[in-house]
Amino acid sequence: MSTANNEIILNVVDLKKYFPIKQGFLVKKTVAHVKAVDGISFHVVKGKTFALVGESGCGKTTVARTVLRVLNPTSGKIVFESTDISNLRYAQLLPFRRRMQIVFQDPMGSLNPRMTVGQIVTEPMLFHKVVKNKKEAYEKAASILNTVGLKSFHLDRYPHQFSGGQRQRIAIARAVSIEPDFLILDEPTSALDVSVQAQIINLLLKFQQEYGFSYLFISHDLGLVRFISDTVGIMYLGRIVERGVTNEVFDKPLHPYSRALLSACPVPDPRVERGRQRIILKGGVPSPIVRPQGCFFHPRCPYKTDVCEKEYPEFREVSKNHWVACHLVK
Ligand code: SF4
Repeated sequence: MSTANNEIILNVVDLKKYFPIKQGFLVKKTVAHVKAVDGISFHVVKGKTFALVGESGCGKTTVARTVLRVLNPTSGKIVFESTDISNLRYAQLLPFRRRMQIVFQDPMGSLNPRMTVGQIVTEPMLFHKVVKNKKEAYEKAASILNTVGLKSFHLDRYPHQFSGGQRQRIAIARAVSIEPDFLILDEPTSALDVSVQAQIINLLLKFQQEYGFSYLFISHDLGLVRFISDTVGIMYLGRIVERGVTNEVFDKPLHPYSRALLSACPVPDPRVERGRQRIILKGGVPSPIVRPQGCFFHPRCPYKTDVCEKEYPEFREVSKNHWVACHLVK
């Protein structure tokens, strides 16, 4: 995660997003909070990919929505280039909304079924005024569809007339139509067949090479994360427990949770793969409302000591650009 010669496009500092739980008949009172994201920090370098990995419910998607300011952060900073956007109001956010886009997991759910592909792709261009008029918008939409592997006659069709892979291409076309700099890819291929997944990933990589897009890639597919990302953060119960250069974290994971998670990721070399052992974790992820005392991972950790049950470990840089939160890692 070297930053010396690299420009940072997005810097997230100690970001928290808590959801209140209210109870009461006439007067609702906050009785607890779901701490979905609890003080995470990471950055995305221009033209590179940072991945967030973790089990379902660890807070990855909440990070995405908070970074985009679809959700308001409870505290912390979201710095896009040099502007802190964490407290900007709607009108002040608009220029940043154009530059930050998202591609969702389920293209059917994210595309309006009543709109034609032409309307879907041209609407953001007209809203953000990246084109002068409708005619120019449709010409640009036809060209973008061509780039994502569709044809201009598809402009008149509706989302239900396409396959899952084609719908995700339309969602990507819509996202890139307004020339963003930064894209959040929230499990963009998990609803697709394996062969189609590869096509979509190759398309995203092609865009990154050609246009210098920066990606925040959210996934639980470890093989894909290793393939696509430059740096990675492993999340557990709303916090990042390990962060670093992807190859280093995958080859030498230090946190016991990362080790267990990554032991499930197959290695392409059959000799190495034969000698590997899968680490099976006992128990499930604890509730984000009533979290364990001390290290959140201690109820499932085979290496826990007394201190693990009392104190949450400091998130420390244990080697250059490799950060870990574990009492055992020195
Ligand atoms: Fe396991 Fe303790 Fe490290 Fe937590 S701090 S991961 S419980 S060894």
